[in-house]
Amino acid sequence: MPRPILATIHLDALRHNLARVRTAAPDAKVWAVVKANAYGHGIERVYEALRAADGFALLDLDEAERVRALGWRGPILLLEGVFEARDLELCSRLGLWHTIHCDEQIDMLAAHKTQQPHRVFLKMNSGMNRLGYSPERYRAAWARLNALPQVEEISLMTHFSDADGPRGIAHQVAAFREATRDLPGERSLSNSAAALRHSADPDVRGDWVRPGIAVYGSAPDYPENDIAHWDLRPTMTLATRILGVQDLKPGDTVGYGSSFTAEAPVRIGVVACGYADGYPRHCSTGTPVLVNGVRSRLIGRVSMDMIAVDLTPVPSAGFGSEVTMWGRAGNGAVLPIDEVARAGGTLGYELMCALAQRVPVTVET
Ligand SMILES: *Cc1c(COP(=O)(O)O)cnc(C)c1O
Repeated sequence: MPRPILATIHLDALRHNLARVRTAAPDAKVWAVVKANAYGHGIERVYEALRAADGFALLDLDEAERVRALGWRGPILLLEGVFEARDLELCSRLGLWHTIHCDEQIDMLAAHKTQQPHRVFLKMNSGMNRLGYSPERYRAAWARLNALPQVEEISLMTHFSDADGPRGIAHQVAAFREATRDLPGERSLSNSAAALRHSADPDVRGDWVRPGIAVYGSAPDYPENDIAHWDLRPTMTLATRILGVQDLKPGDTVGYGSSFTAEAPVRIGVVACGYADGYPRHCSTGTPVLVNGVRSRLIGRVSMDMIAVDLTPVPSAGFGSEVTMWGRAGNGAVLPIDEVARAGGTLGYELMCALAQRVPVTVET
């Protein structure tokens, strides 16, 4: 028997979350963002559930090829555009839409020989200061693209730095609106946080929204709001079993570094999950887990292959009992990945993307 750890991808939840984002941004078309191998879920695994989207957005050309290989004939957008001139050949061959964020990319396109006119998304740096043209340089870039025979259609795009937080997006929306005022073309501005929190404003919604994390059942603005608030469902469960049980006496310690000392007698279960499975090593005593679907907590340090959990709330648990590290338990109880991420000083994004290769994955249809 293999080690009893298993990740489950829930297609019903992916469908539900995608529909939720659609409701939040009515009339907008939806890019399902599937970069980073669908946020660690696996592009091939999520495809069936996400093909209800209007397009797929991603970064890696090999991921674009995989989406085409699955039979997708609709739009695919390269969110960072091409990295070298050769990449444009693949764009022509596979009909990929691509972001243009710098002059070097326009130079490459101008030199590209193709019969296949390209659809490009011209990116504005409206304040994030990652990729894109400043508002002052945006129109000149647009005009240059517009004059190229290789370009069929130009769409306008920007990305928010604070859609999930108190600073908000008004300053970026204003910069984008001002600099694009009389430019034709479809608009795309919103990630998950903007689509859920700010898309009552049609200028924010635009023509295309680009949700990633919300589709994967993590609240983009946790802990201000959780998935229950946004009516999102976990799309990935990481579950394992108890391998061993220890009865601690007062004064006994647990694990490396003895970071936990029992003050009273306590029964602990040792489970088959550790940081080599992608569980965050920085989670410490108190991090929530579900034992037989009942909420309990981690005890002591996370080691490479094992973690101890408190069995006090579940006296019936023992060897072989189910332990849910995040996601949905057998009894239907939910432990949002966001709670675990927060306890480990990180984000749901990182945990789902970091699910380790050695963890077997199954798909629940
Ligand atoms: C990753 C990404 C998104 C999706 O962001 P989420 O916060 O996961 O919704 C949208 N747009 C761009 C440009 C991205 O890189």
